[in-house]
Amino acid sequence: MPTASLPTLADLAPQLPAHLHALLRPDEPLAQYTTLRVGGPADLFFAARTRDDLAEITLAAQRLGLPYFLLGGGSNLLVSDRGIRGLVVQNLASDCSVGPVTNVDTGHSFMELFLKSLSAGLGGLEFAVGIPGSVGGALVSNAGAYRENICDRIVSLDVTTEGERIRVGPDWMEFSYRDSRLRNPLKPTATLLGAELQLVPKPRREILALARENQRQRIFKQPWYPSAGSFFKNVVSRELAERLPELPEGMRAAGVVPAGYLSAACGCKGLTIGGAQVSHRHANIVVNRGNATAQEVRQVTLEVKRRVLEKFGIELEEEVLCVGDWS
Ligand SMILES: Cc1cc2nc3c(=O)[nH]c(=O)nc-3n(C[C@H](O)[C@H](O)[C@H](O)COP(=O)(O)OP(=O)(O)OC[C@H]3O[C@@H](n4cnc5c(N)ncnc54)[C@H](O)[C@@H]3O)c2cc1C
Repeated sequence: MPTASLPTLADLAPQLPAHLHALLRPDEPLAQYTTLRVGGPADLFFAARTRDDLAEITLAAQRLGLPYFLLGGGSNLLVSDRGIRGLVVQNLASDCSVGPVTNVDTGHSFMELFLKSLSAGLGGLEFAVGIPGSVGGALVSNAGAYRENICDRIVSLDVTTEGERIRVGPDWMEFSYRDSRLRNPLKPTATLLGAELQLVPKPRREILALARENQRQRIFKQPWYPSAGSFFKNVVSRELAERLPELPEGMRAAGVVPAGYLSAACGCKGLTIGGAQVSHRHANIVVNRGNATAQEVRQVTLEVKRRVLEKFGIELEEEVLCVGDWS
């Protein structure tokens, strides 16, 4: 029986109008687009500068059944040394209109969105200070800090999925701690084009004071070397929290054990393989000391996982997404 052949990148080009087709670039190195500064090339690369261009290329790929990878600020990614096969779409769409209901393209910087909301006297994004990357990436991993998460600000989202452009509410995202349906490989591919966020009028000095306090806490914890932030998710387990008498009281009460606590307790601070190292400042952050490969970063994180499993019987779950060709 004849088998239907899978669509290829060559099938994509004729689906695109000439002005978009001309922007496709072959063999684009990806390390430069990630905060860890590791990773190989994309077979084909497209930088979408407007929401409509992003919609057009993702709809074309979805209708053809052509897999593609959506790149935001690259701050939550470990891209393999072999790179990403197929198409990578970089999201540079960054229009924004700030108001009590703020309408923003998902390629907009999350931190800059906070600065714009501060200028407009609108609170609600103070926790974004110090979170690099795009609004889209923040939505996909339900980014947050200091007990605030982006999922609580969403009114609606402009999305492409299964070849259609739709508007959805926050429930559609199936948010949980650092997670959403877009991180679930079993769900249909979707791209977030834009978001409406609910912000709250607030005196600027109050917004600034809260943001400064958040920033102050980060300065002491964050390493200066390139990283992708916290590598593993914190562990939500009342049973484990109760087994650890030296855990700060607030965390024990909440039943949350920081992954960094477990990693440090296993002696992982400073663990080094090649150019990759578990930060001395924060045991849940793996840094690139200058010449790390993605493989070295992966090996360090697997060793942390192995030690935590051995000592605590807990399998850490990656917050950072390992993407590309790891064969
Ligand atoms: C120094 C540092 C500090 C950090 N601190 C925090 C913190 O306090 N809290 C926190 O939650 N995170 C933190 N992070 C992690 C990271 O910054 C966030 O997860 C961020 O929101 C990721 O956004 P991004 O644009 O870089 O996403 P990327 O890394 O580019 O992408 C992440 C995932 O989202 C997908 N994606 C991105 N945009 C879209 C879109 N428009 N549509 C569909 N899919 C999309 C990508 O395909 C990928 O699967 C930190 C990272 C660093 C380096």
